[in-house]
Amino acid sequence: MIGITATIPVEIIFAAGLRPVDLNNLFINSDQPKKLVSQAEAAGFSHSICSWIKGIYATVFNNDIREVIAVTGGDCSNTIALGELLARKGVKVTSFEYPFNRDREALLVQMEKLRESVSTTWSKIEAVKARLDRIREKLKRLDQLSYRKNVITGFENHMYLVSSSDFNGDPDEFEKNLDYFLIIAKNREPAKHEIRLGYLGVPPIFSQFYEYIESLNARVVFNEVQRQFSMPFEKKDILDQYLEYTYPYDISGRLRDIEQAIYERKLDGLIHYTQTFCYRQIYDIVLRETLPVPVLTLEGDRPGSIDSQTALRIETFVEMLKNLVE
Ligand code: SF4
Repeated sequence: MIGITATIPVEIIFAAGLRPVDLNNLFINSDQPKKLVSQAEAAGFSHSICSWIKGIYATVFNNDIREVIAVTGGDCSNTIALGELLARKGVKVTSFEYPFNRDREALLVQMEKLRESVSTTWSKIEAVKARLDRIREKLKRLDQLSYRKNVITGFENHMYLVSSSDFNGDPDEFEKNLDYFLIIAKNREPAKHEIRLGYLGVPPIFSQFYEYIESLNARVVFNEVQRQFSMPFEKKDILDQYLEYTYPYDISGRLRDIEQAIYERKLDGLIHYTQTFCYRQIYDIVLRETLPVPVLTLEGDRPGSIDSQTALRIETFVEMLKNLVE
């Protein structure tokens, strides 16, 4: 088992016969994510460090993970220090950096370094890529069922797409579940929610988020970053695939992707989720200034159900959109 702090070219990990585990998913889907944050604070993490970082730290030790790939470029600067701390505690840490300027050669160097560190070959990586591409294609179908046929909830869309960062460590099992789910979903009656929303930013730390939105007669039909994790780009070349991935690079790629989704998915509004103490909050200014539909910015800190103030803000936003589309 090899922990990953963010989406990386998992094809390389699977090709080496290893099982990648997205530490974010393991943290937030654990029985008591709040307790993990508290554990990290008891170990010395300050309150002013993002909860995802604290959750990842505690998750590593609670699951006896001995090896971690830390994404130190293109994801989160906190991961640099987190990686060093884990290494001092005896975890084997390998860093992976997405080049901010999307430089092809620089990305190749990083992938080559990762390949060498896990001792695998490019031919095995290509074979795994072809295998995962078939699953990515099915995830693309799932996403299309969300916004074209309206038969998939915002949470289901989120859950399948967010899990494609590591395919739950087992692509065969993942695909089996996905196939079964697609059969069930295709036979559902389409939902008739009045308002269509897009969700931007890192996955929510809240629980019951999508369910609450649906209780207001609205539905998320675009999960921006989660969809990026699923890499629905249909690129033959693995380098092209990871260059197309918008999240680690400058905001222009994200803006193009979101604008296309607004048009294609007929979005009435966007919810931009920001994490307390995260530098990515600054992007909120750019998103609000650029995007052509109303944007509600939410901020979440610790795991748990959405608080009453956040719930009220979502309700008011949805009501405002209902008035606009009438
Ligand atoms: S939410 Fe922001 S601060 Fe927290 S881990 Fe992600 S990028 Fe880093």
